[in-house]
Amino acid sequence: MKVKLGRNKSISLLLILFFAVIVPCMALSLLALRAADRESVYLEKRLENTLLAEVDLATRAVNDLLSALTSELLESSSGVSGIFDLRPWHQDEILSDVPFLLKNGKLTLVGVNPRREEVFLESFGAFLENGATLPVYDSVAQVYKKELYDMPDEKAGYASSAGISAVLAPAPSAEEDAVKMKKPSSAAQKQLAESKLAIDPRVREEAFSALSEQGFEVSQRNVIPQAAQAEKEAPTEDLSVTVSKNYSFRDLRARDNHGLLPRLTDRGLSLLFWRTTESGDVIGTSIDMNVLKDRLIGRLPALYSDARVLTILDNAGNPIIAPETERAIDWRRPFVSREISPLLPRWEIAAWLTDPDLLSSQAQFTKRIVWVSVAALFLVIAAGSYLVSRMISYEMRIAGQKTTFVATVSHELKTPLTSIRLFAEMLLSGKQRDEEKQKEYLKTMMSEAERLSGLVDNVLAFSKGDGVEYQKQELDIGELAHDVLEQLRPHLEKQGFALSFEKEQNLFVLGNREALKQVFMNIISNAEKYSDKSREISVACLKNGAFAQIRIADRGIGIAPAQAQKIFDEFYRVDESLAALRSGTGLGLSIARNIARKHGGNVRHEPRPGGGSAFILDIPLYHGDGEAKRHDT
Ligand code: ADP
Repeated sequence: MKVKLGRNKSISLLLILFFAVIVPCMALSLLALRAADRESVYLEKRLENTLLAEVDLATRAVNDLLSALTSELLESSSGVSGIFDLRPWHQDEILSDVPFLLKNGKLTLVGVNPRREEVFLESFGAFLENGATLPVYDSVAQVYKKELYDMPDEKAGYASSAGISAVLAPAPSAEEDAVKMKKPSSAAQKQLAESKLAIDPRVREEAFSALSEQGFEVSQRNVIPQAAQAEKEAPTEDLSVTVSKNYSFRDLRARDNHGLLPRLTDRGLSLLFWRTTESGDVIGTSIDMNVLKDRLIGRLPALYSDARVLTILDNAGNPIIAPETERAIDWRRPFVSREISPLLPRWEIAAWLTDPDLLSSQAQFTKRIVWVSVAALFLVIAAGSYLVSRMISYEMRIAGQKTTFVATVSHELKTPLTSIRLFAEMLLSGKQRDEEKQKEYLKTMMSEAERLSGLVDNVLAFSKGDGVEYQKQELDIGELAHDVLEQLRPHLEKQGFALSFEKEQNLFVLGNREALKQVFMNIISNAEKYSDKSREISVACLKNGAFAQIRIADRGIGIAPAQAQKIFDEFYRVDESLAALRSGTGLGLSIARNIARKHGGNVRHEPRPGGGSAFILDIPLYHGDGEAKRHDT
């Protein structure tokens, strides 16, 4: 019953520990580990946003430069109308590379540099003179904005009104149209279209496939920005937001009277500026790309900082200027990148991390700290749980033993009382006239009373606990042992015990007679209690160095080595059940050892050669100088 109750309590304590401590700790740890996992994503996102903001700023600066460039060329060429104006214009205008005049369908160059003129003719000759077509570039948002704007949120209708306009300069009446029709302006539409394309990959996909159907050339970007790949399973190559369609120069002239036309060839990018003169001819120039590059570089922020490297990549994916770094940079794999403008098709402004491992190592570090903290937390919980459960099980064992103790003591008290009452009744009834028998009854009553008082002594000694202080006097401990044995002799011999006593010399100790007597009583009555058929008790008193040693040996049931130390614990009994063959309280030996230690000595157990047990009591010898040496083994 007790054991069952204890087990139930332990189980409920374990459950409480599990649900109140372990489960919340596990939940918190999981949250912390998840947060640490996300840490790298947050870090990367933050860095991506910061660097994108910088790249965007640089892109805007470059776009402003390109608009300023057009204005500058328009202004410087405003007075140019004939062949003779070309050379002075070319000399004044630093951007001019090869100036030209297109009069009545005939192209004239003024001979500034034969080699460059040759290249010019290769790139633009047939286009300007013979009605050949060239790809004209524009941004998807610009070309596709009307469809996107008209598109009810989900479904897109592909109207075919897309037109090339950015290259040809913005539609002049867009703002007026917007006011009249209460629709957003052309610029606003482009902005809206850009954000729609950026937010929704499906819209992008639809726009690209619609534009391909309409004959637009769609190309891949030169770079794969790493930040954008973080959440994708496999790296994907993005399509460029600049698309192109072939037009003849006549088409362009029909739409506008000036423009900047990029042309991509094996030699790289060339730009053509053209304008219609008042007389209906066309003048223009190709742009000196070195001057343009210089100006572009001038608009960039610092190329190198602690966190990143930033530069412009040309249409071949090579940097137009590269800072010197210790690390080799993979130009095709920037961290973030933006396409610049349809005027510089396939050119990008991009940023690379100075130390790409920094992100992951920082995230790794955080993750490691969290793991270590979680491990430490669980270790502390495990250690705490172990200590608490040990304490609880100890307390429960003591509580259980106390309960058993009360039951045992009552039982132990009742047995001698019953037999005393029984013999007293028999004597009183006068039925037994045999004097010998009457004496025997009285002796039994005496020994039962003796047992009773021994028991009460033990309970009293236990209730006093460790705090008791003994009045000590000089006494011969061998003689005391002899007295106790003689006192018990009649009873023991009646029980069939063979007794022997040995004593070499006087063994004076400083001790409390009653307490030491209780030690002998407890040990000898155990020898009686735990003996079966071999019934023999021998007491030997000798001097062992500074100690008097009393050895009480029996031929009883013996004690297993595993129990040898425990038998001295309070309430410990080898057989703890109430129905044990031999009754007892589990206090006798613990009290004996306690008393011995209060005398500076000890009691220990040794297995007896040939079977049985030996209990050895050591007490410091007393030489009359008032000093007793301690002995703690
Ligand atoms: P108890 O009241 O049970 O005898 P003790 O403290 O005197 O309590 O003894 C503790 C346990 O040690 C006993 O329950 C018994 O199992 C064992 N023991 C003590 N003395 C002997 C002995 N002489 N022979 C065998 N076992 C013994």
